[in-house]
Amino acid sequence: MRLMARISVPAADDLLDQRLDVLDHGFVRMVDYLGGDARIVQSARVSYGEGTKTVREDRALIDYLLRHRHTSPFEQVIITFHVKMPIFVARQWIRHRTARVNEISGRYSVMRDEFYVPSPDAVRFQSEANKQGSTDVEVPEALRERVIAALRADQQRSFGEYEALLDDGIARELARVNLPLALYTEMYWQIDLNNLFHFLRLRLDWHAQYEIRAYGDAMARCVQAVAPLAFEAFEEHVLHAVTLSRSELDALRGALDPARLAETLAASGLRRTRRQEVWRKLGMTEPLGMTEPLGMTEPADAEPVAAAAADGARDGDGDA
Ligand SMILES: Cc1cc2nc3c(=O)[nH]c(=O)nc-3n(C[C@H](O)[C@H](O)[C@H](O)COP(=O)(O)OP(=O)(O)OC[C@H]3O[C@@H](n4cnc5c(N)ncnc54)[C@H](O)[C@@H]3O)c2cc1C
Repeated sequence: MRLMARISVPAADDLLDQRLDVLDHGFVRMVDYLGGDARIVQSARVSYGEGTKTVREDRALIDYLLRHRHTSPFEQVIITFHVKMPIFVARQWIRHRTARVNEISGRYSVMRDEFYVPSPDAVRFQSEANKQGSTDVEVPEALRERVIAALRADQQRSFGEYEALLDDGIARELARVNLPLALYTEMYWQIDLNNLFHFLRLRLDWHAQYEIRAYGDAMARCVQAVAPLAFEAFEEHVLHAVTLSRSELDALRGALDPARLAETLAASGLRRTRRQEVWRKLGMTEPLGMTEPLGMTEPADAEPVAAAAADGARDGDGDA
């Protein structure tokens, strides 16, 4: 069996070429992928010449790598997407510079009459608290209908003018300049998993605009198929984690009762090494008498193995 050769992940193969519908005319389609969880652990363990081990050990290693921001093994996994999105979404998307992009050319091709029109429940009011955001306050039905009708009418008028200019022989590159941002565009977008996690962290966040979040959800489904253990670690340590400022941490520390925290941590299901990390992160000391010696309260787990493998990888940083 060729353990280190091209990795094929059945769940990802099932998703290849599937059109995941997003918004009214958009989609995300996974064109190809390179690597998966197995490639991440192979890359991390390369200094030992070892490949994958048990799922439990691989999960622990991937978790360790992501938790400690050893990100380079995640760069060994690459996904290519074909995406169709409104131009205003593409403008946000394209700010992520670590991808390779090819976009449809409005100079070469006649643009299609496809514009984004929000569904009635996606029509939203401006937020007063966040100048860049919207609110959950419900928009009255009559106003929603007016918004949708206004957007549609303007789109139809613009596209009509565009077609008329083309009929007059005007160059496509010029005829298209007044087409609105709601027009759909398409691109091939290839990115490695480390940078895709960065994209997803920013674009699945509630601060991101609803329309790009919808694409983030579809891409997250693809990542989950390609590298389920890595996605699990991403959800645990990045997506649903937060960063506290020094002042926030000071305030939190001041309000915490160490004995109560020790009890809560003991009941949390977190492994001992993770519980110790909590104390370190908070800059607090575990109360005396509550420290269980390693190995007394839980069986030896895969984590030290993961740590050793990851430490081995880290030792090689830059001077292998
Ligand atoms: C909610 C939200 C609101 C935003 N609002 C605005 C806005 O109002 N105006 C605006 O202009 N932008 C806005 N942005 C875009 C934002 O400023 C970033 O450009 C975008 O999120 C891409 O982030 P990035 O640069 O970290 O990602 P990427 O370009 O994908 O880069 C990933 C990482 O690679 C490194 N990197 C990439 N390229 C370089 C480089 N050339 N030099 C050094 N390091 C590099 C950096 O560490 C970077 O974090 C917004 C983004 C979000 C999520």
